Amino acid sequence: MVKISFEFDKDQFRKAILKAAQEQLAKRARACKCPRHRQYPEVITTSEPASNRFSLEIDGCCDVLLSQVKKKLGIQEKEENGN
Ligand SMILES: [Zn+2]
Repeated sequence: MVKISFEFDKDQFRKAILKAAQEQLAKRARACKCPRHRQYPEVITTSEPASNRFSLEIDGCCDVLLSQVKKKLGIQEKEENGN
């Protein structure tokens, strides 16, 4: 049996979690496809490990695709969306 173990300090652990979450969300977003235009969203991930910032930017052809992505990522749409 082979075993690997990693040790993280608190900061490394947080970074690892954030990065994993970011990758997971990006992967889910990229799996979405617009039913109208048959296009995939453009997913841009940005990470600044030094400041613990990991962000995700998603561009899509239309609202249909973007709301599908949000649903997939479990992002709740705000009711009061003043646009
Ligand atoms: Zn579309």
